[in-house]
Amino acid sequence: MNRVRLLVLNAALGPLDYKLAEGMAVAPGSVVVAPLGPRTVTGIVWDEGRLPGKQVDASKLRALREIIPVPPISKPLRRLIEWTADYYCAPLASVARMVLSSGGALGGPATMTEYRLSGGVPERMTPQRAAAIEALDGEQGTIRELAGIAGVSEGVLRGLVNQGVIEPVTVAIDRPYPPADPDFHQPALSPDQMAVAKRLVQAVEEQTFEPFLLDGVTGSGKTETYFEPIAAAVRFGRQVLVLLPEIALTENFLHRFEQRFGTPPVLWHSSLKSTERRRAWRAISEGPKNGGAQVIVGARSALFLPYAKLGLIVVDEAHEISFKQDDGVRYNARDVSVMRARFEGIPVVLASATPALESLHMADIGTYTKLELPSRFGGAELPDIKLVDLTKEKPAHGRWLSAPLIEGLEARLAAGEQSLLFLNRRGYAPLTLCRNCGHRFQCPNCSAWLVEHRLSARLACHHCGLETQPPETCPECGEGDCLVACGPGVERIADEVAELFPEARVAVATSDTLGSPERAAEFIAQAEAKAIDVIVGTQLVTKGFHFPELTLVGVVDADLGLEGGDLRAAERTYQQVAQVAGRAGRGEKPGEVLIQTRHPEAPVIAALANGDRDAFYEAETEARRDAGAPPFGRWAAIILSSEDEKEAREAAVRLGDARPHLDDLYILGPAPAPLSLLRGRYRYRFLVNARRSANLQQVLNHWVGGQDFAPGVRVGIDIDPYSFV
Ligand code: ADP
Ligand code: ZN
Repeated sequence: MNRVRLLVLNAALGPLDYKLAEGMAVAPGSVVVAPLGPRTVTGIVWDEGRLPGKQVDASKLRALREIIPVPPISKPLRRLIEWTADYYCAPLASVARMVLSSGGALGGPATMTEYRLSGGVPERMTPQRAAAIEALDGEQGTIRELAGIAGVSEGVLRGLVNQGVIEPVTVAIDRPYPPADPDFHQPALSPDQMAVAKRLVQAVEEQTFEPFLLDGVTGSGKTETYFEPIAAAVRFGRQVLVLLPEIALTENFLHRFEQRFGTPPVLWHSSLKSTERRRAWRAISEGPKNGGAQVIVGARSALFLPYAKLGLIVVDEAHEISFKQDDGVRYNARDVSVMRARFEGIPVVLASATPALESLHMADIGTYTKLELPSRFGGAELPDIKLVDLTKEKPAHGRWLSAPLIEGLEARLAAGEQSLLFLNRRGYAPLTLCRNCGHRFQCPNCSAWLVEHRLSARLACHHCGLETQPPETCPECGEGDCLVACGPGVERIADEVAELFPEARVAVATSDTLGSPERAAEFIAQAEAKAIDVIVGTQLVTKGFHFPELTLVGVVDADLGLEGGDLRAAERTYQQVAQVAGRAGRGEKPGEVLIQTRHPEAPVIAALANGDRDAFYEAETEARRDAGAPPFGRWAAIILSSEDEKEAREAAVRLGDARPHLDDLYILGPAPAPLSLLRGRYRYRFLVNARRSANLQQVLNHWVGGQDFAPGVRVGIDIDPYSFV
C-alpha cells in the first residue's frame, strides 16, 4: 500500500488521500500526521474502500509527515467508530476524537530525565557533599526530589552532576500502574451470587460476544458478584472496563475495588488533569501487562478508549440516563457498550436493580442473557413501603413534610438511626418572585427560572450556569424586601428539618455539595461514622450508597418527575423512587420508606407501594407498544437553533415543508422546544417516530442533510433521545 486514505480529526473535512514517504510503513489504524495546506492535521489510516470519496490523482498526493508512536487503532474499534457515526448521524471525525482524547499521549516526548549516583567521587569532598552522597544511595528522581531526600540545595546536586558523580538517566514519563491481585481478598459469595459469578466467569473464559442483564435487587451485592469475572479477566491477561454513571459514586467503588484487588483501578473521567489523562491513555493502549492498565473505571467517555486487549465490559447502574450524552456526539454509552463488546467479541454485563425497559425487553426476547439476584445479601429484608396521601395529610403552611414523615424522623433520631429525604431539586427554591409586582426571576439566556441557592447566596440557572447575587430590591418595581421563595429545593427541606429537630445533624447531598471525589469521600466517611442523622439529597443519593444505619427513606414529592411532557416520566419515577427506597434497611435493622404523593392512584405510584415491579413493567410495555415507542418503534429528535428567533423559526418551517411522507414514519413538529431559549439560542424541535422497518438514519440524512440552512442555524439530530426539552 503506498497510498492511504485518512480519517482526519476535523469534522469539516472529508476523508483525505496521501502517499507514503520513501521507507514509511503504515497499517490500517496507524495514527499519523499529514500536511494540510500550510498546516498539519492528525488522522487515522483507514481500511481500504471503507471511506467513500473520489480518488485523487496520484500525482497530486502529498506525503504523510510522520507516524505517531502509539499502537494502531484496532479493527474492532475502527468498526465501532463507523457504527457510532452511522447510527447517531454524527461525523466520523467527532467520534474519532473521542478515541484520540489525550493530546498529551499523541504529542511530545514520553520520557524525562531523572538522576542517580554514578559511583564516581567528587574532586573535592565537602561534608555537605558527603552527606548527600550517603543519603542518595539507591535513590533516583528529579533534581528537586533528590534535593528533598538529601536535605541539600539543588545547587549542591547540580555541582555533583557537573562532576559526573550524579548521572542523568532517561525514564518513561508516566509511572506504571501497580498490578491488581485477583486473589487479594476473595469474599465468600452467597449461593445466588456464586451461580451468577460462575456463569460470568465462564463467559470471560470463552471470550465470545454475550450480553448479560444482571438484574439484582438493591443490596444484593451486584458489585461483589461482578468482581469475580473481573478477577477472571485479570488472571487471563485481559483488560476490563467498568462504566459508572456518576463521579460521586467512584469513590465508594474505588474503595471496594481496592479491598478486593489490593490496588485501585485506573480512573478515567472528564476532570482528570492532562498528565493523568496521558498516563491512563497510554497505559490503556499498551495493554494489561508491565504496568499497563488492567481494570479501568470511568464515565461514559471511557468507552471509546483504545484498549489493547479488552476482555469484559461492565455497565453498572445501567438504567441511568447520565449514560446518554446530550451534546456533541449524542450517544448512549449503555447501547454503544453492547456494540463495542460485539465488535471485540467479548461479554458485556448491564447491572441494575431497575433495568431500562429496553434492556428487559432484550432479555425477554432472548437477545440478552438474564441473571438474577432476587434477595439482599446477608439476609437483609427489602424495606417496607408506605404511601402518604398529601391531599389528606397536608403539611403545615409553607412546609413540605407531612405528620407521618415527621414522626418517622423523630423515631429514627430517638433510636440513633439515620434517615434520608429525597427531593430531586437542587438549591433552596425553584422560583423567586416579587410579592409586590409579581415579577419572576428568569434567566436572560434561557426560558427557565433562576433557582435560589441559599448556601452560596446565589440565583442560578441550571441550564446555562449563569449565577447572580439576589438583589436587595425588585428590578421591576424597585420595592425592597419583597422577594419570596416559591416551592422547595433540598436546602429548604434541610432548613425545615433543622427547625423541627434543632439537635439533628443534617447534611445536604447534591452535585453542589459533593461535586468533587474528595467531597464525596468526606460525605461517605461522615455518614458511615454516624456523624450525620438526616441526609437531604437529590438523585445523586439514590444509587450506590450503602449506609447500614439508614433505616428511613422519605420521598418528599413522588409526583415531581411525572410532570411535563417526558415520554419516559413514569419509568424514570419508578427507577428513582425504587433506587432511593433501596438505600433503606441495608444493614441488620429493617428499613421503612414513606412516599409523599398527591396521586396515590397513579399506576406507577401504586406499583411502588405494592412492590409490584412486574406489573408496572408490563403496563408500561403495553403503553409503549401502543404508542410505537421504544423498544417497539424508534424515536429521533431534530433540534434547530439560532441566536435569531426568526431565523430559527424559518429554518424549522422550511425543514417541515420538506418533510418526507412515508408509511412507517411519523413526524411531529416543528414546535418551539419546551426550553425555547437555551444559552441565548432560540430552539425548535421535531420528534420523529419510526416503525422498526424504517431506515431512520437514511431518511434523516437525506431529509435534513439535503437542506441548506442559514449560517447561524445549528441542526442537531438526537437518535433514541432521552431529553425532550
Ligand atoms: P447492590 O449494588 O446490589 O445494591 P452492593 O454491591 O452495594 O449491592 O452490596 C451491598 C452490601 O453487601 C455491600 O456493603 C457489600 O460489600 C456487601 N456484600 C455483598 N456481597 C457480599 C459478600 N459476598 N461478602 C461480603 N459482603 C458482601
Ligand atoms: Zn440560563
